[in-house]
Amino acid sequence: MGTEHKTCSRCGEAKPRSAFTRHAQKSDGLRPECRECRSAGRKESDAKYRSTDLAKQTRRRWHKHRYETDEGYREKVRARSRAGALRRRQRNLSIIELEAARRGNRCEICGVGPFQRGGEFSWHHRWGEGKSYDIGRTTTHSEARLRAELARCALVCNKPTADGVSCHTLMHRRMRAFAAERQLEERAVAARGSRV
Ligand SMILES: [Zn+2]
Ligand SMILES: [Zn+2]
Ligand SMILES: [Zn+2]
Repeated sequence: MGTEHKTCSRCGEAKPRSAFTRHAQKSDGLRPECRECRSAGRKESDAKYRSTDLAKQTRRRWHKHRYETDEGYREKVRARSRAGALRRRQRNLSIIELEAARRGNRCEICGVGPFQRGGEFSWHHRWGEGKSYDIGRTTTHSEARLRAELARCALVCNKPTADGVSCHTLMHRRMRAFAAERQLEERAVAARGSRV
């Protein structure tokens, strides 16, 4: 065993002295683990630290502080979020257009077409399926959520036809009538219950 080589305490390989970093307090003046193992170990512990809540809080605080005090940073963050919103919007509009095309680009009730985004057509949430969000707000929706929401909607015309009412209006009238009918039924059941 000469002074030329040293065995790494981590990987167990014998390596030249130059493969180790200096450490004044050690008898041979070198760290026990080789440079390679040292950097691998550091990466591991860095990754472990980054995933802790403390690290996340620190990052959030730092981000907030920088956002409030550094105008260049603020502008950069805003530009990035604008770009993201624009990208999402373009993607979502094309998903909506493809879905309309899949349904023949026409009103599902009266067949009026072709579909054009905004104005003449609506994505109507069928009854009982509830509306969890507005399809028109295309800058925020994720692809999965938008697709799920479209699946729950009927594509209907929104412009009054010859008889002065659009199919969308009629669908809402039917929903209101349905709700009123349910209310009447519930009243009747409650009345029967109180008589017992
Ligand atoms: Zn090593
Ligand atoms: Zn229609
Ligand atoms: Zn509707």
